[in-house]
Amino acid sequence: MRRGKMFIICGPSGVGKGTVAGALMARDPDLYFSVSATTRTPRPGESDGVHYHFLTMEQFETWIAEDQFLEHAAYVGNRYGTPKKFVDEAMEQGRDVLLDIEIQGAAQIHEKRPDAVRIYIAPPSWEELERRLLGRGTESIEKVRSRLARGKEEFNAAKDFDYFVINDTVDHAVEEIQAIMTAEHCRPAERIGMIDR
Ligand code: ADP
Ligand code: 5GP
Repeated sequence: MRRGKMFIICGPSGVGKGTVAGALMARDPDLYFSVSATTRTPRPGESDGVHYHFLTMEQFETWIAEDQFLEHAAYVGNRYGTPKKFVDEAMEQGRDVLLDIEIQGAAQIHEKRPDAVRIYIAPPSWEELERRLLGRGTESIEKVRSRLARGKEEFNAAKDFDYFVINDTVDHAVEEIQAIMTAEHCRPAERIGMIDR
């Protein structure tokens, strides 16, 4: 059986990563979404174990000490990490895995798992990004500013990614990401072993 592949989506806060990830999952129930751990407080509508595992700082430190994370990073005042076990189990079952993580975490995974595919999601413009982030209404104005500043700082790193997708409409972004997933499974390294000789 083929092993699943790891796909990482990264991009500035408010660009629509969560929205696009939700739409991808709805179109392909076999895709496994990696539920991260975080120390930030839940937003309205977010539930524990579905959007995130919401941990105290102490619990987060314990998970680190127990080596439960594939990667972890600090982001605008909070900690975030990818639990290793579920991701590996899903890939062993042949499922593709989708990670919505920030840029330091993506760099850590690139070191450990160089075959993970990194997709940068960009907004159509910075004005539109600000509109989306403000429109979501989940952060204070100071936090919105910090997140926008962080997004602009990190934009330089986008050129090192494997793919660059502009989230103009959700449908368009989803179609491009699905095309990337299909193409990645057509690489010789993925396919040659499937042929009897
Ligand atoms: P992220 O997970 O990257 O922080 P979200 O998925 O929470 O971003 O999206 C931020 C806001 O932008 C949400 O209110 C969402 O509904 C909206 N949004 C996402 N994608 C689009 C899009 N293509 N066009 C317009 N609004 C969008
Ligand atoms: P938010 O607070 O808006 O949900 O997420 C803030 C940032 O943390 C986003 O860029 C998101 O991709 C990132 N993030 C979410 N989970 C993880 C994770 O497990 N590891 C890392 N490194 N970043 C994460």
